[in-house]
Amino acid sequence: MNDVLPAEIGAWQHLERVLGGLLHDYGYEELRVPVVEHTELFKRSIGEYTDIVEKEMYTFEDSGGDSLTLRPEATAGIARAAISNGLLRGARLKLWTAGPMFRHERPQAGRFRQFHQFSVEAIGFPGPDVDAELIALGARLWQRLGVTRVRLVLNSLGTSAARAQYRGALQTYFQAHEAALDADSRRRLQGNPLRILDSKNPALRALIEGAPVLTDYLDEESRQHFAALRTMLDGLGVTYTINPRLVRGLDYYSRTVFEWISDALGAQDAVCSGGRYDGLISQLGGEATPAVGFALGIERVVELIRQAGTAGQSRPPAVYVIANGALAEPRALQLAEQLREALPGQGVQMNLGGGSFKTQFRRADRSGACLALILGDAELDRGMVALKPLRREAGQSECPLPDLPARVQKMLQEESWTST
Ligand code: ATP
Ligand code: MG
Repeated sequence: MNDVLPAEIGAWQHLERVLGGLLHDYGYEELRVPVVEHTELFKRSIGEYTDIVEKEMYTFEDSGGDSLTLRPEATAGIARAAISNGLLRGARLKLWTAGPMFRHERPQAGRFRQFHQFSVEAIGFPGPDVDAELIALGARLWQRLGVTRVRLVLNSLGTSAARAQYRGALQTYFQAHEAALDADSRRRLQGNPLRILDSKNPALRALIEGAPVLTDYLDEESRQHFAALRTMLDGLGVTYTINPRLVRGLDYYSRTVFEWISDALGAQDAVCSGGRYDGLISQLGGEATPAVGFALGIERVVELIRQAGTAGQSRPPAVYVIANGALAEPRALQLAEQLREALPGQGVQMNLGGGSFKTQFRRADRSGACLALILGDAELDRGMVALKPLRREAGQSECPLPDLPARVQKMLQEESWTST
């Protein structure tokens, strides 16, 4: 579980701004769901034979005897919220949320126990058009972030009926190779053999490569859905590869599944994963409602932004206020407040804790501010304050106190200072 320090926050805020703006452009609205839910919700939605439910959940009993779990992902909570707040009733919802998720995994580069996701969900839309639009949103995000080393992998899981047939074929195949399976996979062989395809054990790779593929078992409707999605993506100019073994880590998906992966992140290469989950809401007790969504791993995208060097730096203040003298110092506090009132969003940093003019000028310079405002008892006596541009060689000029906000504004314009 990591601390995100001020030096790193620029890339986080950049991603939040860019993706927040895009989600608005595509008609998504934010909702915020709790970080804790009943354990049962995750067992029923994510599935018993998944890494998450088998070994990654932070589960505890509260003093009332309820079994609660820190959310490992947000889709289940959003589906629960849509049901329990009566938002469904045939409505079409485009929702997003962002925040921390918790999984007790082995920590390594790109894999943490508290990590953060954007979770984006379109509920009540059955067609492949919304799948295509969600994927286009992802493609536009990479473009806006200036992140190039990502590519899209697609697959279709078909309906649950088609998967049941496939499941039989997989079971037969893996049973014939049972001795080669690891303990996790052997357990999943009976419970959910599809999960074996999602195994991260390199020793199983060759065996998995040889397994029957789901594509051969797709039902006709899913086939058409997938073909239509591909046509739309081609029309949008979004490129992809199809990986018939992409099954995703959670049980609730049906039909379209996709993953944006990067070759710039080492082993933890998935940055954004999603798919259609038409059965989830009815499985949780809501009226049958088709839905599709994705979860984006913020830490991994932040790392891509860092590599691309496209993050905004933290913003320096526009003005640094220097004051020295028994009368000047309290008066400077007032002037700083006056400037914050007149120039919202610009950043006015007050020198706190005194110091010689020389020390204060050094701090002003280090702050990255555009202008220094200088107040001593002598200036104050004459009703004046001094101003000095800090980003170029320039002398200081005086300004009558009542003119200060207007003069600062004018000088910032002359210095071509922008607050963003
Ligand atoms: P992985 O295959 O990497 O374990 P997953 O299939 O468990 O991923 P999802 O549950 O689909 O991942 O989560 C969506 C995204 O959240 C992933 O693509 C990844 O970017 C990010 N993510 C998942 N688990 C972690 C983690 N422990 N630490 C950091 N990011 C994570
Ligand atoms: Mg995982």
